Amino acid sequence: MYYILTKNLMKHELMKLPYATDALAPYMSGETLEFHYAKHHLAYVNKLNELQEGTEFADMTLEEIIKNSSGGVFNNAAQIWNHNLFWNTFSPHPNPLPGEEGIATKLGEMIDNNFGSFDAMKDKFKAESLGRFGSGWVWLVQKGDDLEIYSTPNAENPLTEGGTALLGCDVWEHSYYIDTRNDRGQYIENFWNIVDWEVVEGRLV
Ligand code: MN
Repeated sequence: MYYILTKNLMKHELMKLPYATDALAPYMSGETLEFHYAKHHLAYVNKLNELQEGTEFADMTLEEIIKNSSGGVFNNAAQIWNHNLFWNTFSPHPNPLPGEEGIATKLGEMIDNNFGSFDAMKDKFKAESLGRFGSGWVWLVQKGDDLEIYSTPNAENPLTEGGTALLGCDVWEHSYYIDTRNDRGQYIENFWNIVDWEVVEGRLV
């Protein structure tokens, strides 16, 4: 048995959510999930499939496309990757923060070493999100033994900057306007309630 790779096999698909669309409420509503996942995220998938057809990108993985493209192809590919990471971070029953409940973890130690405390890390993450003008993402990134928090505009992400994204928060208005309207800060507070820190720690390399 052998397979012939065709461009059809490289079509990108919308990832399956690991929870029901209403499972993250009240921190992220079912209505937000229906629009953000089933409309915005799906639109990036459909657009990339349309743009890549008949081009060099049609035979590349998502990561390869992100590292080798620009313009619309990059924007849609990176947004697919960003949202995959985002949705896979959440749980209706999230594992606790490192250091909470007496759990000392490698990630918890790295956070203490790099930011002073878990709360200080969260404060910096929130400040970065509030400081991002317009649309973008805020990232907790591993670089060797160090952690960094920074934001990127639009679809840009740590894949092209040489770090490992541990946590990414979508600060485009479409991710919070249904639930918290113009209050991006409250959206970040809600976000902390659904982040599964075991998942985040599992991304350490
Ligand atoms: Mn989004």
